[in-house]
Amino acid sequence: MPLTGLEIYKLLPKTNCKDCGFPTCLAFAMQLAAKKVELKKCPHVSEEAQAALEGASAPPIRLVRIGTGEAEVKVGEETQLFRHDDKFYNPAGVAITVDDDLEEAAFAERIEKINSLQFTRVGQEISVDLIAVVNKSGDANTFAQRAKLAAEKSPLALILVSKQAESIGAALEEVAGKRPLIYAADAQNYEDLARLAKDKSTPLAVVAQSLEEGADLTEKIKALGVEDLMLDIGGKAIKEALLNFTKVRRAAIKRNFRPLGFSIITFAADGDPYKTIAFASTYMAKYAGVVVTDCIEPWQILPLLTVRQNMYTDPQKPIQVEEKIYAVGEPDENSPLLFTTNFSLTYYTVEGDVEASRVPAWILAVDTEGTSVLTAYAGDKLTEKTVAQALEKTKAAEKIKHKKLIIPGLVAVMSGKLEEETGWEILVGPRECSVLPKFLQEVA
Ligand code: SF4
Repeated sequence: MPLTGLEIYKLLPKTNCKDCGFPTCLAFAMQLAAKKVELKKCPHVSEEAQAALEGASAPPIRLVRIGTGEAEVKVGEETQLFRHDDKFYNPAGVAITVDDDLEEAAFAERIEKINSLQFTRVGQEISVDLIAVVNKSGDANTFAQRAKLAAEKSPLALILVSKQAESIGAALEEVAGKRPLIYAADAQNYEDLARLAKDKSTPLAVVAQSLEEGADLTEKIKALGVEDLMLDIGGKAIKEALLNFTKVRRAAIKRNFRPLGFSIITFAADGDPYKTIAFASTYMAKYAGVVVTDCIEPWQILPLLTVRQNMYTDPQKPIQVEEKIYAVGEPDENSPLLFTTNFSLTYYTVEGDVEASRVPAWILAVDTEGTSVLTAYAGDKLTEKTVAQALEKTKAAEKIKHKKLIIPGLVAVMSGKLEEETGWEILVGPRECSVLPKFLQEVA
């Protein structure tokens, strides 16, 4: 059972030295009990207390690293059942399969296609993370050669999909340095795969038909010296899979049940790509750490990555752009200047419409803590003062000589005060930014 905050407090030095960043040992203990801070933040814990606190300080879901360097995918270390209680920390990895029985050229072509699945959305780069090489041929040598080719052709992390220890062993000889995830150990092969995972210091996925079997297998594998595990306890139907995933997460987070304290890996495959992506998105919501799919077209993968991007933002911190003046096209000192807020969705919508006007222009993104125009105005985050400060801070007057500022039509009411505060001439823009192209073509 996890320790309570008070039980943890009794084991701490109780000096309130604040070296952990908290005002008191009790405050630190409460955060530790809630798994929101790591024990190592307190440098003064005695060895005996450290041993006693080990269970309380370890994250309820083990952090597992797949891949190395920039391609490393971190899964686990989540602390919540519900995103609104805090946030989800490590975005689910998206993996795409490639079968080892493809001809070499076709295999390489599929790898290249997976590599190209990169997109920019609301100013962030989003992409696929892993390649799952599937031992469809059943042949160890073929599998090893294809795994090697995947490693050569792609910087992405790898999953080696085979139940045969001989195939996994052969592939690991080629790609162990990339720290691939082995998929998967079951009741029959777990000893062999655990030995390989331990020898090559690489993570291992465990596939089980029930929670009981999964808990039993992870304990047996841990006893063999492998701690970096993932779990696949799905179900034949999506309803059953979701139920199992939720039970695993709940057991780990609410009961600190270590045998199920691992991130989930699951496969989403259905002949229909629309259903496949819908299933993958659903699994991601509750609570897959890695989703493997055979979908490879950009129109299939982009929606999945978009779902992930939205799911793994901090609900208390909207996606924001930096407060600064952005150039659209190649504007000069005579080009129009508009302002909007730094809420990414607002900013990029405005930027898209300014781009569509083909009028080179400047956009000032005013820091409103990531809120949209009307919300910011209603919450006093968008006032004549904040706009004036943004103009000052970004040295707008040095870039733009005409000293005219186009403001969103939704806040036309602030134009008088804004003119007084800034000394800039205020032009009221359209209420809907979709009208911006026409508006800019007329004023430019
Ligand atoms: Fe207490 Fe340790 Fe934090 Fe100091 S660093 S206040 S001893 S918990």
